[in-house]
Amino acid sequence: MKVICVDHIGIACKGSLEDAAKFYTDVLGLKATGTEKVMDQGVATVFVPCGETLLELLVDITPEGNGPIGKYIAKNGPGIQHVALRVDDCEKTLAELDAKGVALIDHHARGGAGNMNIGFLHPKAAGLLLEVCSPK
Ligand code: ZN
Repeated sequence: MKVICVDHIGIACKGSLEDAAKFYTDVLGLKATGTEKVMDQGVATVFVPCGETLLELLVDITPEGNGPIGKYIAKNGPGIQHVALRVDDCEKTLAELDAKGVALIDHHARGGAGNMNIGFLHPKAAGLLLEVCSPK
């Protein structure tokens, strides 16, 4: 397992992605990349590159608003929802963490936005929702 860098910061946002991106594009002058829907997670995302790190703006797209992002906002309000570390190999990293007894949400890598393999650690492992990711 090799941690390379902070890949992105996931920010739970209310409303549409366009509304969510507006501050970053119109006020801060950053550029948003293409939007993407990750249906199995019930989220739509847009990435806003910020130097080497991406801001991942997330909105709930489930009909009832009770996907992971909808639930997060209902409980905590909008804000930083997760931090993602880029690793050399997501699947191997999850296996290594599992072997170390680290509490995991995902025991195997799955497909995420931005053509990445992703997996989440349980918040009790790192004190926040931590994602590990590597390019597919
Ligand atoms: Zn993420």
